[in-house]
Amino acid sequence: MTILLNSKEVISNGSQQHFLKIVDFLIHELLGDNFELRSNITNNDNFRISISGLPSVGKKIYQINYDISLFRILYDILYIVLSNERFFQGIGKSSGAFSISTIEVPSWAILDAAMANNKPIFFDKERKELHDFIYTLCLHFIIRHEIRHIANGHIDYLVNIKKNGFVEGFTNGLNSIDSQTIEMDVDSCVAVGFLNGFLTVPEQLTHIPIKLQNTESIFESFLFTLKILFYCLPSKMVSRVQEAEILSHPNSTLRYFYSFTAGLSYLQEFKPELSELFGRTYQKTWSFFEIIEDQKILNTNKVWDDYNWSMSDEGQDHANRIWDNWNQWIPLLKPYAILKLAPPAGAGL
Ligand SMILES: [Zn+2]
Repeated sequence: MTILLNSKEVISNGSQQHFLKIVDFLIHELLGDNFELRSNITNNDNFRISISGLPSVGKKIYQINYDISLFRILYDILYIVLSNERFFQGIGKSSGAFSISTIEVPSWAILDAAMANNKPIFFDKERKELHDFIYTLCLHFIIRHEIRHIANGHIDYLVNIKKNGFVEGFTNGLNSIDSQTIEMDVDSCVAVGFLNGFLTVPEQLTHIPIKLQNTESIFESFLFTLKILFYCLPSKMVSRVQEAEILSHPNSTLRYFYSFTAGLSYLQEFKPELSELFGRTYQKTWSFFEIIEDQKILNTNKVWDDYNWSMSDEGQDHANRIWDNWNQWIPLLKPYAILKLAPPAGAGL
């Protein structure tokens, strides 16, 4: 085992080119050449992603700015989590699991420093490939999510009602429930696009480590990616409706739940033979939090509070409020949407 990972890799030219290639691939897959998208990587250490429309004649042009700090912290968090061989057992080797006090930090630099205090952790080639793969899946999710804000008409709608563009993590002049509703729309579409991509676009499979090239592992990797993004990155966990009602995005468990439900509905309709396996994998992979708890890198009390609240009557009322609100939003967004919006509530998201 000889490979020492370093989040600096993320800011290398090669890595940024790789990122832009994924953006191009996904735009092509989703949209052909319906609009032009310019991607810009910033370095302001604020995790921020923003989207704006640029003045143009003819084909529409949008710009997305991604702050690279988000990718660095993602890279580090995955390094720490995957150093624990209980995740993806049998896929490569790690020289040990990181022992650090928490992954809930406000900047990648703090994580880098904590990791430097740990004894060096080496991955073998296969474990490094696994890290690369899950990291790429996270990028896929993030990029698809942002492209969907454009393709589903959110940006043009906001511009048309004179709001100042769109910044991820803010309500952008909308009230919180409206903001959570459009985030639910994109997450749902992304979950479907993500599964559909892996199940029907053969090129996507060629980048998967060989031992994960089977449907169950793809489902596991998908759900693992969602848990990393929704619970392990600086996240939105709540335990009361008053906390949920002020967020720009649904709280962690509801985002996870909406994405899972959208994926399940897609499978039930287009690949019904796989829906049972997907449901089983969903149940099985909650062990993620037991493993994380043993490694003591995340306060799982907060995770379970968020989960229990989301499953309570109050949490389900909140979830339904967002779903019901979606019915009001569909006609507002339709004139601007290039791709199909999430199905209306009640149509089995
Ligand atoms: Zn968003």
